[in-house]
Amino acid sequence: MNSKPTILLAFFFAVLLGCKSQNTGITYNSETLKIIPISKKSFIHVSYLQTDDFGKVACNGLIYMNEGEAVVFDTPVDIETSDELIDWITKTKKQSIKAVVINHFHDDCLGGVEAFHQLNIPSYANHKTIELAKREGNAIPQIGFDGKNELMLGKQKIINRHFGEAHTKDNIVSYIPSEHLLFGGCPVKSLNATKGYLGDANINEWSNTVNNIKIAYPDLKIVIPGHGDYGDVELLDYTISLFKTE
Ligand SMILES: [Zn+2]
Repeated sequence: MNSKPTILLAFFFAVLLGCKSQNTGITYNSETLKIIPISKKSFIHVSYLQTDDFGKVACNGLIYMNEGEAVVFDTPVDIETSDELIDWITKTKKQSIKAVVINHFHDDCLGGVEAFHQLNIPSYANHKTIELAKREGNAIPQIGFDGKNELMLGKQKIINRHFGEAHTKDNIVSYIPSEHLLFGGCPVKSLNATKGYLGDANINEWSNTVNNIKIAYPDLKIVIPGHGDYGDVELLDYTISLFKTE
Protein backbone atom coordinates (compact mmCIF):
# COMPACT_ATOMS: atom_id res chain seq x y z
CA MET A 1 0.00 0.00 0.00
CA ASN A 2 2.61 2.51 1.01
CA SER A 3 5.31 0.99 -1.13
CA LYS A 4 6.33 4.35 -2.53
CA PRO A 5 7.60 5.80 0.78
CA THR A 6 9.26 2.46 1.52
CA ILE A 7 11.12 2.56 -1.77
CA LEU A 8 12.08 6.18 -1.17
CA LEU A 9 13.31 5.31 2.31
CA ALA A 10 15.30 2.36 0.97
CA PHE A 11 16.82 4.62 -1.67
CA PHE A 12 17.69 7.22 0.96
CA PHE A 13 19.50 4.63 3.10
CA ALA A 14 21.26 3.19 0.08
CA VAL A 15 22.63 6.65 -0.72
CA LEU A 16 23.54 7.23 2.91
CA LEU A 17 25.36 3.90 3.16
CA GLY A 18 27.05 4.48 -0.18
CA CYS A 19 28.44 7.79 1.01
CA LYS A 20 29.42 6.33 4.36
CA SER A 21 31.43 3.45 2.98
CA GLN A 22 33.38 5.86 0.78
CA ASN A 23 34.14 8.30 3.57
CA THR A 24 35.06 5.90 6.36
CA GLY A 25 37.75 4.30 4.20
CA ILE A 26 40.77 6.43 5.01
CA THR A 27 41.73 8.68 7.89
CA TYR A 28 45.19 9.71 6.67
CA ASN A 29 46.58 9.62 3.17
CA SER A 30 49.89 10.73 1.68
CA GLU A 31 52.10 9.58 -1.21
CA THR A 32 53.82 7.15 1.13
CA LEU A 33 51.35 6.22 3.88
CA LYS A 34 47.67 5.44 4.21
CA ILE A 35 45.83 4.81 7.48
CA ILE A 36 42.47 3.02 7.53
CA PRO A 37 40.34 2.79 10.69
CA ILE A 38 38.85 -0.65 11.27
CA SER A 39 37.49 -0.20 14.79
CA LYS A 40 37.62 2.50 17.50
CA LYS A 41 41.02 1.27 18.63
CA SER A 42 42.50 -0.39 15.55
CA PHE A 43 43.89 1.04 12.33
CA ILE A 44 45.64 -0.50 9.35
CA HIS A 45 48.72 1.33 8.06
CA VAL A 46 49.62 0.86 4.41
CA SER A 47 53.01 1.71 2.90
CA TYR A 48 54.56 0.84 -0.44
CA LEU A 49 57.51 -1.42 -1.15
CA GLN A 50 59.31 -1.31 -4.49
CA THR A 51 60.04 -4.94 -5.49
CA ASP A 52 61.79 -6.54 -8.47
CA ASP A 53 59.24 -9.31 -8.96
CA PHE A 54 55.93 -7.61 -8.19
CA GLY A 55 56.53 -3.87 -8.80
CA LYS A 56 55.21 -1.47 -6.18
CA VAL A 57 53.45 -3.50 -3.46
CA ALA A 58 51.09 -2.09 -0.81
CA CYS A 59 52.00 -3.55 2.60
CA ASN A 60 49.69 -3.70 5.61
CA GLY A 61 50.55 -3.18 9.24
CA LEU A 62 48.38 -2.54 12.29
CA ILE A 63 48.12 0.07 15.01
CA TYR A 64 46.25 -0.85 18.19
CA MET A 65 45.50 1.92 20.68
CA ASN A 66 44.23 1.59 24.23
CA GLU A 67 44.21 3.93 27.24
CA GLY A 68 46.65 6.44 25.75
CA GLU A 69 49.14 3.89 24.50
CA ALA A 70 49.69 2.18 21.17
CA VAL A 71 51.37 -0.92 19.82
CA VAL A 72 52.43 -1.03 16.16
CA PHE A 73 52.50 -4.32 14.25
CA ASP A 74 55.04 -4.27 11.44
CA THR A 75 56.79 -1.05 10.52
CA PRO A 76 56.11 0.88 7.34
CA VAL A 77 58.61 -0.16 4.67
CA ASP A 78 61.34 2.40 5.47
CA ILE A 79 62.56 4.76 8.20
CA GLU A 80 61.06 7.95 6.70
CA THR A 81 57.60 6.45 6.39
CA SER A 82 57.91 4.99 9.88
CA ASP A 83 58.64 8.51 11.19
CA GLU A 84 55.52 9.67 9.36
CA LEU A 85 53.46 6.96 11.09
CA ILE A 86 55.03 7.69 14.48
CA ASP A 87 54.13 11.39 14.07
CA TRP A 88 50.51 10.53 13.31
CA ILE A 89 50.22 8.27 16.36
CA THR A 90 52.03 10.54 18.82
CA LYS A 91 51.05 14.02 17.56
CA THR A 92 47.67 13.61 15.85
CA LYS A 93 46.30 10.81 18.03
CA LYS A 94 48.37 11.75 21.12
CA GLN A 95 49.20 8.16 22.04
CA SER A 96 52.59 7.02 23.30
CA ILE A 97 53.97 4.04 21.43
CA LYS A 98 54.81 1.21 23.79
CA ALA A 99 56.18 -1.38 21.36
CA VAL A 100 56.49 -2.53 17.77
CA VAL A 101 55.94 -6.21 16.94
CA ILE A 102 57.55 -7.78 13.86
CA ASN A 103 55.71 -10.48 11.86
CA HIS A 104 58.71 -11.96 10.03
CA PHE A 105 62.19 -11.04 8.84
CA HIS A 106 61.32 -9.38 5.49
CA ASP A 107 61.64 -5.65 4.75
CA ASP A 108 57.88 -5.15 4.51
CA CYS A 109 57.73 -5.95 8.26
CA LEU A 110 60.86 -4.37 9.71
CA GLY A 111 62.23 -1.96 7.08
CA GLY A 112 61.59 1.02 9.39
CA VAL A 113 62.36 -0.51 12.78
CA GLU A 114 65.34 1.84 13.35
CA ALA A 115 62.91 4.78 13.49
CA PHE A 116 61.29 3.16 16.53
CA HIS A 117 64.63 2.26 18.15
CA GLN A 118 65.77 5.87 17.80
CA LEU A 119 62.86 6.88 20.04
CA ASN A 120 63.59 4.08 22.51
CA ILE A 121 60.49 2.17 21.45
CA PRO A 122 61.31 -1.53 21.91
CA SER A 123 60.79 -4.02 19.09
CA TYR A 124 59.65 -7.61 19.64
CA ALA A 125 60.12 -10.59 17.34
CA ASN A 126 60.35 -14.35 17.29
CA HIS A 127 63.98 -15.47 17.99
CA LYS A 128 63.99 -17.05 14.57
CA THR A 129 63.08 -13.69 13.00
CA ILE A 130 66.09 -12.04 14.62
CA GLU A 131 68.33 -14.87 13.41
CA LEU A 132 67.04 -14.67 9.81
CA ALA A 133 67.13 -10.84 9.76
CA LYS A 134 70.80 -10.96 10.79
CA ARG A 135 71.60 -13.50 8.11
CA GLU A 136 69.77 -11.43 5.49
CA GLY A 137 71.51 -8.20 6.53
CA ASN A 138 68.17 -6.59 7.38
CA ALA A 139 67.40 -4.32 10.33
CA ILE A 140 67.36 -6.34 13.56
CA PRO A 141 64.55 -6.37 16.14
CA GLN A 142 65.68 -6.05 19.77
CA ILE A 143 63.70 -8.38 22.00
CA GLY A 144 63.37 -12.02 21.01
CA PHE A 145 60.79 -14.51 22.22
CA ASP A 146 60.51 -18.22 21.84
CA GLY A 147 57.44 -18.90 19.72
CA LYS A 148 55.01 -16.98 21.94
CA ASN A 149 54.87 -13.58 23.60
CA GLU A 150 52.16 -11.66 25.46
CA LEU A 151 51.99 -7.90 25.84
CA MET A 152 49.54 -5.86 27.86
CA LEU A 153 48.24 -2.54 26.59
CA GLY A 154 46.35 -1.08 29.53
CA LYS A 155 44.07 -3.92 30.57
CA GLN A 156 44.01 -5.53 27.12
CA LYS A 157 46.10 -8.48 26.10
CA ILE A 158 48.03 -8.96 22.86
CA ILE A 159 49.24 -12.45 21.95
CA ASN A 160 52.04 -12.82 19.40
CA ARG A 161 52.57 -16.41 18.41
CA HIS A 162 54.32 -18.62 15.89
CA PHE A 163 52.00 -21.39 14.66
CA GLY A 164 54.37 -22.99 12.18
CA GLU A 165 56.02 -22.27 8.86
CA ALA A 166 54.08 -20.60 6.03
CA HIS A 167 55.21 -17.47 4.12
CA THR A 168 58.49 -17.84 6.03
CA LYS A 169 59.94 -20.15 8.69
CA ASP A 170 59.70 -17.53 11.42
CA ASN A 171 56.33 -15.87 10.72
CA ILE A 172 54.00 -15.15 13.63
CA VAL A 173 50.47 -13.78 13.90
CA SER A 174 49.20 -11.26 16.47
CA TYR A 175 45.86 -11.71 18.20
CA ILE A 176 43.94 -9.15 20.24
CA PRO A 177 41.20 -11.07 22.08
CA SER A 178 39.18 -8.01 23.15
CA GLU A 179 38.93 -6.89 19.50
CA HIS A 180 38.42 -10.41 18.08
CA LEU A 181 41.16 -9.31 15.73
CA LEU A 182 44.00 -11.17 14.05
CA PHE A 183 46.88 -9.37 12.40
CA GLY A 184 47.99 -12.20 10.17
CA GLY A 185 50.59 -10.48 8.04
CA CYS A 186 51.96 -12.37 5.04
CA PRO A 187 50.97 -15.87 6.29
CA VAL A 188 47.37 -14.75 5.66
CA LYS A 189 46.21 -13.93 2.12
CA SER A 190 43.51 -11.49 1.06
CA LEU A 191 40.59 -12.98 -0.86
CA ASN A 192 41.57 -13.95 -4.41
CA ALA A 193 45.23 -13.07 -3.82
CA THR A 194 47.93 -15.09 -5.56
CA LYS A 195 50.57 -16.98 -3.59
CA GLY A 196 52.98 -14.04 -3.79
CA TYR A 197 56.69 -14.27 -3.03
CA LEU A 198 57.56 -17.88 -2.19
CA GLY A 199 61.36 -17.61 -1.95
CA ASP A 200 61.36 -18.31 1.80
CA ALA A 201 58.03 -20.11 2.04
CA ASN A 202 57.03 -23.58 3.16
CA ILE A 203 54.14 -24.33 0.79
CA ASN A 204 53.65 -27.83 2.22
CA GLU A 205 53.03 -26.57 5.75
CA TRP A 206 51.23 -23.31 4.94
CA SER A 207 47.66 -24.73 5.03
CA ASN A 208 48.31 -26.63 8.26
CA THR A 209 49.77 -23.57 9.93
CA VAL A 210 46.78 -21.39 9.04
CA ASN A 211 44.38 -24.15 10.05
CA ASN A 212 46.05 -24.21 13.48
CA ILE A 213 45.49 -20.46 13.78
CA LYS A 214 41.82 -20.93 12.90
CA ILE A 215 41.41 -23.64 15.56
CA ALA A 216 43.24 -21.62 18.23
CA TYR A 217 41.15 -18.48 17.68
CA PRO A 218 37.56 -19.47 16.88
CA ASP A 219 36.07 -16.04 17.70
CA LEU A 220 37.75 -13.88 15.05
CA LYS A 221 35.75 -11.03 13.53
CA ILE A 222 38.57 -9.08 11.84
CA VAL A 223 41.45 -10.72 9.96
CA ILE A 224 44.19 -8.58 8.40
CA PRO A 225 46.47 -9.99 5.70
CA GLY A 226 49.99 -8.79 4.84
CA HIS A 227 48.77 -7.32 1.57
CA GLY A 228 45.31 -6.42 0.24
CA ASP A 229 41.90 -5.96 1.84
CA TYR A 230 41.13 -7.09 5.35
CA GLY A 231 38.11 -9.26 6.10
CA ASP A 232 37.03 -11.99 8.48
CA VAL A 233 37.73 -15.70 8.96
CA GLU A 234 37.05 -16.20 5.24
CA LEU A 235 40.64 -15.04 4.66
CA LEU A 236 41.93 -17.99 6.69
CA ASP A 237 39.69 -20.38 4.74
CA TYR A 238 40.87 -18.90 1.45
CA THR A 239 44.53 -19.20 2.47
CA ILE A 240 44.04 -22.80 3.63
CA SER A 241 42.50 -23.74 0.28
CA LEU A 242 45.09 -21.81 -1.76
CA PHE A 243 47.95 -23.87 -0.32
CA LYS A 244 46.13 -27.16 0.11
CA THR A 245 48.32 -30.05 -1.10
CA GLU A 246 46.69 -33.14 -2.55
ZN1 LIG B 1 57.34 -11.35 3.60
